[in-house]
Amino acid sequence: MTVAEAPSQLMSVETALERILAAVPGSTPPEEIAIADALWRVPSHPVVATVSLPPWDNSAMDGYAIRAAEVAEATESDPVRLHVIGDAPPGAAATAAVSAGTAVRIATGAPLPAGADAVVPVELTTPIDAAGHLGHRGRDATGPLPAACLVHSSVPAGGSIRRGGSDIVAGQTIAPAGRALTPSSVALAAGAGVSTVEVHRRPLIGVLATGDELRSPGQPLGPAGIPDANGPGLRALVRAAGGEVVDLGIVGDHLEDVTRRLRHGLERGVDALIVSGGVSVGPFDVIKLAFESIGRLDLWRVAVQPGKPFAFGTAEEANGRTRALLFGLPGNPVSTAVTFELFVRPAIRRLGGHERLNRPPDRAVLLEDVSKSHGRRAFLRVVVERDADGAPRRDREGRIPVRLAGGALGQGSHVLSALAVADALAVIPEAADDLAAGSGVELRWLDGPDAGQA
Ligand code: AMP
Ligand code: MG
Repeated sequence: MTVAEAPSQLMSVETALERILAAVPGSTPPEEIAIADALWRVPSHPVVATVSLPPWDNSAMDGYAIRAAEVAEATESDPVRLHVIGDAPPGAAATAAVSAGTAVRIATGAPLPAGADAVVPVELTTPIDAAGHLGHRGRDATGPLPAACLVHSSVPAGGSIRRGGSDIVAGQTIAPAGRALTPSSVALAAGAGVSTVEVHRRPLIGVLATGDELRSPGQPLGPAGIPDANGPGLRALVRAAGGEVVDLGIVGDHLEDVTRRLRHGLERGVDALIVSGGVSVGPFDVIKLAFESIGRLDLWRVAVQPGKPFAFGTAEEANGRTRALLFGLPGNPVSTAVTFELFVRPAIRRLGGHERLNRPPDRAVLLEDVSKSHGRRAFLRVVVERDADGAPRRDREGRIPVRLAGGALGQGSHVLSALAVADALAVIPEAADDLAAGSGVELRWLDGPDAGQA
């Protein structure tokens, strides 16, 4: 435990984030990739349609391409007979043009033949074969081409026609720069003829876990070892934020070893290095010195709970330009995750070219009393109340009722089980020491099971 510091010595969360974002040198350079590989990637330039959608006027229905004026008087009992002169199956343009007294059978999506101005759906027709026999009304449109058909209803000019370019016009922007491509935007771009897209290279992020007590998965713990939670946890958080990981492994609390690993990360060309542990003021806490030996330390005391021991710095090129951002996160796994969410994730998103750095804010109402350290902004791990279908409940003011995750002991910065069940962070302002049940607070959602973006 360190001696309590006067809040005035601590930097606000906003100022810390501003300083971090100001140090981000820009977003990563573009690379060209196949649209099929572009899910969740961030376009560096607007994605522009290369073909119109639909490319030409086409049919919205299986039926017959006709001239609407010719069937204007058609009724159920007094249908109009048209001579069927050709077929427009999917993937083929009709060779025949529709003229007076004729129709061309047409499939959904096939190009409208010349001369036609409407499609009559097959359900409103009866086929007639070459011998003059009537088939079944509305028979499905896949059999042999009938010689003629009866049309039992009028249709408006333009009926059942999708106009060329009515969805997308060639040259139109279909996805802006800076917004990750979703499954449907991948489909839209592919449908609009886009085969490759320019996207920001995924930010390359080195992750190093420090602590003499840490053991890698499967290693015996011995009398005082613990499994490394932060290495795997941070690598997962980096990937969820759109980054690519350089795994720098686990290292003990030795300045030279830490510095060597960090240099190795820099040589790999990382955009940022994240170190967990060793960032307090204890005798084994070497991260600040390590940052100073590869770059410079910018800030390290932020008015945040959990996560006060937090270090940020930069390693620079010879010309003074930022080469890599340096994040030293507290070792307690909950503090690690919360400081990542508050300070590292927005920086990775800026590196990755995202226009929006933060998640959309939400509002909650506390279902129980909470208390916290004075002068620091607390980010409590909370579980939201849901209805039987899993949808978050909201009160009349639109606020989501929340409970502390993990019960009475759940808010300790070492309690991973509470973090794992938390849906979100409830934000308790610096000035409050306690908040009573019923108080409204800001809510910051975390990645839940539905958020997968790997
Ligand atoms: P430190 O920030 O190094 O003082 O560590 C604070 C607490 O977090 C100690 O109890 C550490 O054992 C624990 N800790 C540090 N790093 C990790 C890690 N990678 N995985 C799990 N616990 C950790
Ligand atoms: Mg340590």
